[in-house]
Amino acid sequence: MIIAIDGPSGAGKSTVAKAVAKKLGFSCLDTGAMFRSVAWQADQLGVSLEDGEALGSIARDYQISFQHEPGDPAPRKVLMGGVDVTSQIRTAQIDRAVSSVASVPGVRQALLEQQRRIGNAGDYVVEGRDIGTVVFPNAAVKVFLTASNEERARRRVAQNLERGVGSTDYEEVLADIIRRDEADSSRAAAPLRPAEDAEHIDSTAFSVEQVIDRICQLAQAARDSE
Ligand code: C5P
Repeated sequence: MIIAIDGPSGAGKSTVAKAVAKKLGFSCLDTGAMFRSVAWQADQLGVSLEDGEALGSIARDYQISFQHEPGDPAPRKVLMGGVDVTSQIRTAQIDRAVSSVASVPGVRQALLEQQRRIGNAGDYVVEGRDIGTVVFPNAAVKVFLTASNEERARRRVAQNLERGVGSTDYEEVLADIIRRDEADSSRAAAPLRPAEDAEHIDSTAFSVEQVIDRICQLAQAARDSE
């Protein structure tokens, strides 16, 4: 079964995806980490963000893999071409570059294939921007998770502090998420938008536990109707 969680950055997708996966015994796939890995590799190779062809080649040629600890639904490590990029893909520099990389159709196509291969191998909670619309349009459960801009910026700062990587300046983080929402929503290829059959959840108004419980209820209902 696939549970698709889409929404803008900082809406709480990762936290919720991990908790839902743990409760249901699913694995997690963070598709944003894949776009970030391509952006990181482009930076390493000095590839311009304007060079769509070269960016597409990176997405096709480098293997992105996730290392899991037994019993933990979320991967401990993200590897790009065998290099551990777990922390490096969370820097403010990658935050700034990733939306350009994600707007390149060749990058999206290459990652789409990898995402489907991974997700189809088992029960997955998949989080991203186009999971319910493009990657897994037949997902059993589709959720579009949002929160106010200010709440999302606060959460992202807290997450960056905890991870010890990325900007911890509230104004900078707020500006970045507003800019990325705009870029992700207005691009031609697989823009950020809710699937028609997605359940909208505004997490500003609910506790994390309430959001997790609601998604687990949806999964149960989907299982019952199988
Ligand atoms: O989720 P996260 O903030 O890590 O995603 C980083 C970026 O990757 C997003 O801002 C977006 O540009 C891109 N992305 C995407 N499609 C996805 C997941 C992420 O375009 N399914």
